[in-house]
Amino acid sequence: MTRVLLVTGGSRGIGAAVCRLAAAQGWDVAVNYARDGAAAERVAEAVRAAGRRAVTVQADVADPAAVAHLFDRTTALLGPVDGLVNSGGITGRSAKLADADVADIERTVRINTLGTLFCCREAARRMSTERGGRGGAIVNLSSGAATLGSPNDFIWYAASKGAVDTLTIGLSKEVGGEGIRVNAVAPGLIDTEIHDAAGMPGRVESLAPQIPMGRAGSAEEVAHPILWLLSDEASYVTGAIMRVGGGR
Ligand code: NAP
Repeated sequence: MTRVLLVTGGSRGIGAAVCRLAAAQGWDVAVNYARDGAAAERVAEAVRAAGRRAVTVQADVADPAAVAHLFDRTTALLGPVDGLVNSGGITGRSAKLADADVADIERTVRINTLGTLFCCREAARRMSTERGGRGGAIVNLSSGAATLGSPNDFIWYAASKGAVDTLTIGLSKEVGGEGIRVNAVAPGLIDTEIHDAAGMPGRVESLAPQIPMGRAGSAEEVAHPILWLLSDEASYVTGAIMRVGGGR
């Protein structure tokens, strides 16, 4: 039976790497994006080139109605969702909290924390074996920032990911008996475009020497543990927050 994976923020970075690796491992994939439809379509093409089905679906995860539409559309086009990866996220522009932009703080918490909550809620309603679903697995993107705190950088982002850790633990317990496993991956410094969007071009190169392994990670190096957590090999793993940070 083909399994269906929904990846929020599947158009770029870690989410895109998850979509491509998932296709290689036999998943059909729904590629969610917020603004960059062309990037999402390129990822979908790569999935199709690997022999799997793919659709792209625009939705802002911070909007609960859009999230319901995202799941409805995925189910209509590919079938019920078996796996969910919550990778859609932002940091806001790097600053000390005292200087931070209020709108930036609100947007970051809305997308990272409320967006993950809304997507997990929708998945739980549909996957739960107590509600007629066939079970499934969820992997949330936390961050090493959740435990490091990101001082002088983006404390609000770190806090938004601390909440992701908490909701991962809580939901894993709530639905543990309903056929749903819920885990998180907490990446360290990963070489994607998120750092440019934070207003910090060159951030990866300047911070890499502080990482115990001496380098940033790649999106693919995060995608592999995510796919493992989704797989049956991780059948007894739930409520875990797996650090993928090169020792950081
Ligand atoms: P990225 O390259 O900037 O990609 C972000 C993705 O999120 C894009 O596909 C973007 O879609 C999507 N997105 C943004 N706002 C959204 C919204 N409101 N609704 C739906 N999708 C939205 O970022 P990344 O580095 O891959 O990060 C992916 C996740 O890993 C994030 O949750 C991030 O916090 C986490 N993480 C990253 C790092 C790192 O160093 N890179 C470290 C720890 C944790 P559009 O292109 O359409 O806007």
